[in-house]
Amino acid sequence: MSREAAHNISNRGSALDAVADEILDGIRDRGTYRRMRVLDGLQAPRMTVDGRDVLLFAGSNYLDLARHPEVIEAAERASREYGCAAGGSRLITGNLVCHEALEEELASFFGTEAALAFNTGYMANVGVIPAIVGAGDVLLSDELNHASIIDGAKLARTDVAVFRHGDVDSFRETLERVRPKARRVLVAVDGVYSMDGDVAPVAEIVKHAHDADAIVLLDDAHGTGCLGARGRGTAELAGVLGEVDILMGTLGKSIGSFGAFVAGSAKMRDLFVNTARSFIFSCALAPAQVQAARAALRLIDEEPWRRERLDANCDRLRKRLGTHGISTDPSTTHILPVVIGENAKTMATCESLLERGYYAQGIRHPSVPEGTARLRITPMATHSEEEIDGLADTIADLLSEAPA
Ligand code: PMP
Repeated sequence: MSREAAHNISNRGSALDAVADEILDGIRDRGTYRRMRVLDGLQAPRMTVDGRDVLLFAGSNYLDLARHPEVIEAAERASREYGCAAGGSRLITGNLVCHEALEEELASFFGTEAALAFNTGYMANVGVIPAIVGAGDVLLSDELNHASIIDGAKLARTDVAVFRHGDVDSFRETLERVRPKARRVLVAVDGVYSMDGDVAPVAEIVKHAHDADAIVLLDDAHGTGCLGARGRGTAELAGVLGEVDILMGTLGKSIGSFGAFVAGSAKMRDLFVNTARSFIFSCALAPAQVQAARAALRLIDEEPWRRERLDANCDRLRKRLGTHGISTDPSTTHILPVVIGENAKTMATCESLLERGYYAQGIRHPSVPEGTARLRITPMATHSEEEIDGLADTIADLLSEAPA
């Protein structure tokens, strides 16, 4: 590279660095500066985190399927048979036989007419929402919905009406208020709230929404594979599987691969193939991810013990923390918050926990409201009872030591 070219790069860099300093200083002042930890090793209940061998209570590989021999074998075989890339977007050269097969299997798994894969849950939400609502419409959104729903609404340039978290009365009042003026109403809720582990009142929401001729998008990123008698997620748990208009789930959490999907009617699929920009203008999922997801989906049915063990581990942790006087409210699922409150104390507890061999991530604003910083604990199906008890007792120890 010429001296002149190098000089130009460094000049551009310095203007950017000035902006970065300005913004990052503000973030540091607010005590919310983040850095990435570096993990190593096979996805498992025990991994190396920042060079330290610890028990992992911070991931989303809830059912421990990401290292299942059949899932790994499917990914390996797919790479050999198809190569490592899909080689294009779905509408050009990237629509392989395996993508279509995955979607048919997802539809049959959820009992819907059709399904459509997206590259991530984030991309599903930012694609689907603007495909349905825009100016003159309303997105009705729970106040704690995931950032990807909020960003989808921004891209859609639609009006947004927010209702109080998990509150059916607030939902109904908001729906009644906005419905007469709106052309279309799309209701979006998370199934399982990712920072609190509580579950949306999906049955009531679906009923009232449909009574008002509104469409329901359920983001079941965390419920898929884990909740309901057969792991179909929050809608199954609520008894409304098949009634949700757009059931969104991810393939990168309990399914142990990567990607996301929406399940619903054949017309829904056709609509998104033709209008969801994050679907149209992006390369298709790699074959290894698709085939790994298909293998994992089969295992959800073949190995229900994983779901049962996850439940048992979460119940055990909840009770054990309870005996120490530590609440995990309002969680009823496999995401368990221990709210500490203050940012600095939460992050110090997280570091001390790591030193003692457990990784549960400290979460601060803006991921959660100010003053509610917490340890977010996500057990896995394959943690042992001793490991669960050890985590609970160590947290209790640390919280009793820490100055108030
Ligand atoms: N929705 C919710 C509720 C989530 O928690 C997440 C991921 N944390 C997403 C959507 C985005 O999914 P993905 O990671 O596949 O982009």
